[in-house]
Amino acid sequence: MLVGIPLETAAGETRVAVTPETAKKLRAQGHQLFVQSGAGVAAASPDAAYAAVGAEIVDARAALGCDLVLKVRPPSPEELGLMKPGATLVGMLNPFDAEGLQRLAAAGLTSFALEAAPRTTRAQSMDVLSSQANIAGYKAVIIAADRYQKFFPMLMTAAGTVKAARVVILGVGVAGLQAIATAKRLGAVIEASDVRPSVKEQVESLGAKFIDVPYETAEEKEAAEGVGGYARPMPESWLSRQRAEVAKRVAQADVVISTALIPGRPAPKLVSAEMVQSMKPGSVIVDLAAANGGNCALTQPGQTVQAHGVTIVGETNLPALVAADASALYARNVLDFLKLVLAKDATAVNVPLDDDIVAACLMTQGGQITRKG
Ligand code: NAD
Repeated sequence: MLVGIPLETAAGETRVAVTPETAKKLRAQGHQLFVQSGAGVAAASPDAAYAAVGAEIVDARAALGCDLVLKVRPPSPEELGLMKPGATLVGMLNPFDAEGLQRLAAAGLTSFALEAAPRTTRAQSMDVLSSQANIAGYKAVIIAADRYQKFFPMLMTAAGTVKAARVVILGVGVAGLQAIATAKRLGAVIEASDVRPSVKEQVESLGAKFIDVPYETAEEKEAAEGVGGYARPMPESWLSRQRAEVAKRVAQADVVISTALIPGRPAPKLVSAEMVQSMKPGSVIVDLAAANGGNCALTQPGQTVQAHGVTIVGETNLPALVAADASALYARNVLDFLKLVLAKDATAVNVPLDDDIVAACLMTQGGQITRKG
């Protein structure tokens, strides 16, 4: 099968959907690869590395005109214009963007959004949300440490003692857990909050303290348990008690890393303008939810701003700042997904709808939106 790997054109996107490592594996499966010149350069994979494993280096038209196109981000209108009706597209296609899906359907594409894969054991190796969130959690702490004008670890020196940084993590999914682990390695003292009760043990096992906000009603407990491991919006009664507990910690914090998300909804607002005002000058907030509206009321998506002496980082694509490893992990996720739809030496993509992962990821087919859920 002819497989195209275009250069990503979204602003700030540095990742690539196929690395030389996975290109070699696709070649071994009998597929021909058209890699757009420069597609991997920002992720430390020059054209020569793809050519060395048998890929052809081509222009955008040739890469996007393939029967199967592997991307990171949804195609722009210009990119869509270069794609063939009936072709297959695999990428992170924003399953909740109805207009975007409509454009893919209208272009006659069979498209798979990998973010829609179920969070099951079998789907773990193709879980792009996890592979990229893990990187975002790490990078958020590295950025915070860079912006913060003091040490993270406690230091006892001849010139005096430096206190350890106090870090508060809001939202402890994949990104939050990695943020705790990374901040811990740097020597910070960490407290973390999440709505899901199962998180407490994970937080404590990483050496952080869980900010307990007990559930007082059956409705609160049920919402906290969520669906399929995901959080649901919590009742206001619980959220107001959580805000009070979080506000106390935020006022004492040197760094806040917020990662709280509810799939398909705007990010919950956990840090108000007043809470920012209560923080010490020089403190840093890194808001991983910036792309979904932000967990902090003062976050400006895509920008770093100063408010009341606090630096608020609203970077919307942290994995792209770790382009090589983010691409390496994403490309392996893509390769694992392809095992479900692309047989060795196949000349066409197969869509086995009895496979729960394939069915969940299928967004468009035959001119229609097929997205489930
Ligand atoms: P996510 O990115 O959707 O959300 C991040 C975190 O924000 C979640 O932990 C969520 O509970 C939390 N949150 C939402 N509202 C909040 C609020 N008001 N206050 C504080 N926190 C709030 O989460 P994710 O990283 O994608 O993980 C979602 C779930 O999927 C987790 O249970 C995770 O363990 C699970 N998971 C399972 C698998 C698997 O089994 N294969 C793989 C990855 C993740």
